[in-house]
Amino acid sequence: MSPKKYTSLHHLQADLLEGKTSCASLADYYLGRIEKNQHLNAMLEVYAEEAREKAKSVDAKLKNGNAGKLAGMFLAIKDNICYTGHIASGSSKILSNYKAVYTATALQRLLDQDAIVIGRCNCDEFAMGASNENSAYGVVRNAADTTKVPGGSSGGSAVAVQADFCLAALGSDTGGSIRQPASFTGTVGIKPTYGRISRYGLMAYASSFDQIGPITSSVDDAALLVEIMAGVDQNDATSSAQNVETYTPNLAQKYTIAYSKEAMESEGLAIDVKEAYVALIAKLREEGHIVEEKSFPYLDYMVPCYYVLTTAEASSNLSRYSGMLYGQRSELATDIESTFKKSRSEGFGPEVKRRIMTGTFVLSADEYDAYYSKAQKVRRVIQDASNKLLEEYDFFLCPTAPTTAFEIGGDMSKDPIKMYLADIFTVQAPLAGLPALSIPTAESNGLSIGMHFMGRAFEESALFNIGNIVSSYYRAP
Ligand code: GLN
Repeated sequence: MSPKKYTSLHHLQADLLEGKTSCASLADYYLGRIEKNQHLNAMLEVYAEEAREKAKSVDAKLKNGNAGKLAGMFLAIKDNICYTGHIASGSSKILSNYKAVYTATALQRLLDQDAIVIGRCNCDEFAMGASNENSAYGVVRNAADTTKVPGGSSGGSAVAVQADFCLAALGSDTGGSIRQPASFTGTVGIKPTYGRISRYGLMAYASSFDQIGPITSSVDDAALLVEIMAGVDQNDATSSAQNVETYTPNLAQKYTIAYSKEAMESEGLAIDVKEAYVALIAKLREEGHIVEEKSFPYLDYMVPCYYVLTTAEASSNLSRYSGMLYGQRSELATDIESTFKKSRSEGFGPEVKRRIMTGTFVLSADEYDAYYSKAQKVRRVIQDASNKLLEEYDFFLCPTAPTTAFEIGGDMSKDPIKMYLADIFTVQAPLAGLPALSIPTAESNGLSIGMHFMGRAFEESALFNIGNIVSSYYRAP
């Protein structure tokens, strides 16, 4: 892959101010990259003319000295984030013709600072998946090796940054959908604390887990984007009024970090990922951080707990797609019941159907106590134990995913349980509502490996700082 034009907004803006580049020429560059790399199938739609127009107007603002903080930031958005007047399909057939009638708050805040949206990214249908093979619009390919998946569900967003289609992309994360694709594509991904960023305008998958977050090439860009998107929003009652700090790097800071005994000993952990994990622990110690092994005995419960709760929430959230108000209506429908049945049968893909059925089952009167209510209790145990661990340590360190990017259409794709286990290290943070960051630290056979830091609620700044510290170890001298 050719080197990226820019890997941080800071450098890009320096060149803009010195007149070495312009938003108009950057628009041409990024649109050219997208054009040349269509085989990756990362973009479902490109807003070429709009991006060019907006680029001209940002150039004019830069000249007048009244440009926003994100002047020069070309951004791609996941297909489950609403943007007025643009299609938002959730990469589902059922919403293939749905045009958003309002803009997500998180996105609006970026637009207000002059971010330029270049297009809409492919993803797993309704954000359900870990490989981007569940999109109704085809698989997305990893730019480092096109026989491999980019991860999911925000695979298109991750590839857009990996392949230099834009400087940053928005994804959403319910159980790992920002962090795991970031790990597979050598990018930085953060899932903020639950409530940190408004979910207004994000298509609901599992509302008590979902968060919007950025995928970027640099930690500083992630920090800036989170800072601008964060904060209370009257349209989302779960958004938090917690103070939003401006992140200032402090690379001299030393931390206490726990690493997971169970993750280290986990059967499914690939040898190359384990080596990268061990190497990072050694390097952190060498640099003066306190890194200790810690047992967190709930690892085996996390994936089942996550899938019971998220499918339950999904079965309720996705009931709105009935062929009545919006989205596709089956041509074979003759009455209300057949409208529901046929529109949903035709409109949803197999994984979404599997989850709606699982969720309906775990919420049914006979099974509720055995599954849903038990999983709620397990979630509380995981939350309490995670918070307790983070009273003692600044971060909990794991690999982001047990393997590097796996094969498209391979073993994983044929077995949903195997695929669900790809989320083993990422579901803890959303179960506990905590923020977590994936940062690339190694490569194996040309594929990137990400490490995962989970931190205290609303302490994203500390995560950005450890992210910057860690990436300083891997930057060329
Ligand atoms: N892979 C997980 C799932 O399939 C995570 C998805 C997500 O975070 N949206 O549910």
